[in-house]
Amino acid sequence: MNIIYILTYDCNFRCKYCDVYKHNNNISIDVINQSFIFFERNNFLINKIKFFGGEPLLKKDFIKFIINNFPKKYNTNFYITTNSTLIDNDFMIFARENNIEITFSIDWDLDTNRENRILAHGDNLSEQIINNTKIYSNFVKINQVITPKNSINFFKNFTYIYDLWVRKFNFLPAYYIKWTKNWLVNLKKWFDEIYDFYKKWNDFELINLENYSDISFFNLGIIIDTDWNIYWTNLILSWKFKKYKKDLKIWDVFNWLIFDIQNNVFIKDYINKISSILEIEYNKSVLVSVKYIDLLLNNFCNEFKTHRN
Ligand code: SF4
Repeated sequence: MNIIYILTYDCNFRCKYCDVYKHNNNISIDVINQSFIFFERNNFLINKIKFFGGEPLLKKDFIKFIINNFPKKYNTNFYITTNSTLIDNDFMIFARENNIEITFSIDWDLDTNRENRILAHGDNLSEQIINNTKIYSNFVKINQVITPKNSINFFKNFTYIYDLWVRKFNFLPAYYIKWTKNWLVNLKKWFDEIYDFYKKWNDFELINLENYSDISFFNLGIIIDTDWNIYWTNLILSWKFKKYKKDLKIWDVFNWLIFDIQNNVFIKDYINKISSILEIEYNKSVLVSVKYIDLLLNNFCNEFKTHRN
């Protein structure tokens, strides 16, 4: 089972496509300690712990606290996705010592980062994003966001990051927007080109293969919110879905759990609930685009899998 800690709703960026409801709401040591008790009491099978935000590295102390104090009986792996600008050598050493998998979420080349990655206050840190990618390329995975606009340069942008010595890629097409037929055709073309490149050089990994979710794009698992409530989806991070928090809440860390949240029927019903909410919030053409993006991405992943085996 995946556990996701939402450490903060704040971020030092205001990326153009980001729909996280940003405000200064942070987790507390009380909630974290109580979450440990909650997990032990319920004897969950936990294998992955992920740190989400906002920007999780705004709360490095909480990350260290959780990793240093998480109940020892669990043999877990830790995951952080960050915009990379708050990483430093100290934290990287801590990450290496504690087996934390770090993913930098970046927007391709310098110009694309400059265009999309707007800082909350003042300057643009796009050069720092590229520099950090270069410095830490051996130790991190890269989430590459693909929007319809930058998909035109998808392959060129991929090789730009590859030339910084990155070898672990998660390709992330923008979900829940409308992709036209032409954009989808381009995307397919560039996926093919990347697959050909892979067959030729065989020296990078496709991280998408590790990231399956029953709901496109959104993560499922036990989500510990900053305010102690528990959800089964990170959809609640979005400003668009914050109004559904009451419906999506499953419990909180301060109370005894009185039903099995790992039960398959419960999970299936919950996924159906999320699907109905998505149907209310997005028009049909957007949901059809999601299906096409999934299809293209799945085919792309399957080609990799077949080649690897
Ligand atoms: S860095 Fe991530 S959380 Fe922050 S604004 Fe950009 S996409 Fe959103």
